[in-house]
Formats: sequence, C-alpha cells, structure tokens
Amino acid sequence: MDKIRILGTDYIYDDQVEMNNRGEIEFTGKKIRVNKILSNDLKMQTVLHELLEAINTELELNFEHKVISQLDCSLKAIFMDNPKLKDIMFPEVI
Ligand SMILES: [Zn+2]
Repeated sequence: MDKIRILGTDYIYDDQVEMNNRGEIEFTGKKIRVNKILSNDLKMQTVLHELLEAINTELELNFEHKVISQLDCSLKAIFMDNPKLKDIMFPEVI
C-alpha cells in the first residue's frame, strides 16, 4: 500500500475503501482513506482535502473546516483549469 509523507509523518494511503463519505484522515493510526467509487477529479479534491486536514492539525493552524473545503475546492479548480500544471510544477524532480 502507498504511503504519503506529510511533514515528516508517514500515512498509509488507501483509495479502495467502501465508506459513506469521500474520505478521511485518521491521526492515531496514521491513515488516509479515500472512497473507491470517486471519480478522478473528486478523488484529487479529496486527497487535497485530507492533506490540508493534516497540515491544519500538525501545524495547529486551527482553520475552520469550511476554510479547508474552500482551499481544496480552489486547488482542484486550478489543477482542472491547467492540465499541464503538475508537469510545470514538478518537472521530474521527484
Ligand atoms: Zn474534512
């Protein structure tokens, strides 16, 4: 199973989960779970959301959940409007 390292902490990433919501992050067990039925764009938005949840918690930013949702929605929109953006941002450095 894949792992996502967020600010030095490894989270087990599973995007094949049957669940009632889009996704969730579990801080005690260090897991990020994503609903397996999501379309690719919703999956991207959900992963962005869980990353932002992790940053918010780890850095004690105390963003309201609404702010996290506004940020994930905005980032998703930017990536969708700029299909080449990830190649521009990460040109084979990683
Ligand atoms: Zn959330």
